[in-house]
Amino acid sequence: MDFAHIIGHARQKEELSAMLQEGRLPHALLFTGPAGIGKKLVARSLAAAILCTGEGERPCGICEPCRLMAAESNEDYFELVPEAAGKAKPVIRIDAVRSAVARTIMTRSSGPAEAMGRVLLIDEADLMNEPAANSLLKTLEEPPAAVTFILITEKPSALLPTIRSRCIPIPFGALSPQEVEEALRRLGETGEAAHAAAHLSAGSVRMALRLVENDSLELLESVLSLLEGAPKLPMLEVFRRAEDMGKWERTRQSEWLGILALVLRDILLLTMDGGGTLLLGDTRRERLLALAQGTAGAQIHTLLALTEETTRRLQSNANPRLLFEGFLIYMSDICRL
Ligand SMILES: [Zn+2]
Repeated sequence: MDFAHIIGHARQKEELSAMLQEGRLPHALLFTGPAGIGKKLVARSLAAAILCTGEGERPCGICEPCRLMAAESNEDYFELVPEAAGKAKPVIRIDAVRSAVARTIMTRSSGPAEAMGRVLLIDEADLMNEPAANSLLKTLEEPPAAVTFILITEKPSALLPTIRSRCIPIPFGALSPQEVEEALRRLGETGEAAHAAAHLSAGSVRMALRLVENDSLELLESVLSLLEGAPKLPMLEVFRRAEDMGKWERTRQSEWLGILALVLRDILLLTMDGGGTLLLGDTRRERLLALAQGTAGAQIHTLLALTEETTRRLQSNANPRLLFEGFLIYMSDICRL
């Protein structure tokens, strides 16, 4: 539960600890950064530290508020998350905001007598609808004493500017591949699949877990062998592959394109200086080097632009089979030059 056990984000954890220790923690914080990197873990740890009544390093893990926090039954900690109704997109509604705020200012009826303050965490705060956001804004304008608000979002620009301006921003960055791999190891995912997923995850543990599930090694192998065979790919094979890939799940299709983009960036690095740290790590350096030697920098740039364009069009719901067909035809043309 304490900061030391959370992987990465050293600067943010240090800053928050210092603010807490020096008694200058603001009443509203806004955690921003990509999905799946641990913003909520840090927020929960901070909440535990705020509510902790122990001596020395907080959270101490042994006082009553800490023990209640670990058992997910600390009544001074509230978590507000988007709720889905039927098929509609999840949303945080005004009733939810109102009742959470009301509970944070309610007189304490139970719980540890010496407890200090309360914490309200709002996850995916950008999913508050307009009435909910306005209701929260009113509360933030006249904040109740001893309540800390922690808002979390991947899309700070989707929040009301007036809410943003009342929170102290704490931006979080992506994790390093080594940090993602360590997080995977703690979750029981090890071996070459975990290693590859960590390097392909763009610093997100959530993404890495999805890649492990979708067998990222197989996707990587499919990308590499396609690039190796691209200069002499028969037309029939193009249509067969496009039909096959067109039937994949949308997430697998975009992961495949994401992996291709990473591979192309590594090849580009190798065509430029032949060295440096590769995004994919060193396991496949030989194969990437062979690809780099057989292709000119300009071709890789064109392929990369094509990959990015295809990713965009896939997101805008173009027909996947036709999209991959066009992509593979163009790709083998570029590689034949
Ligand atoms: Zn404690």
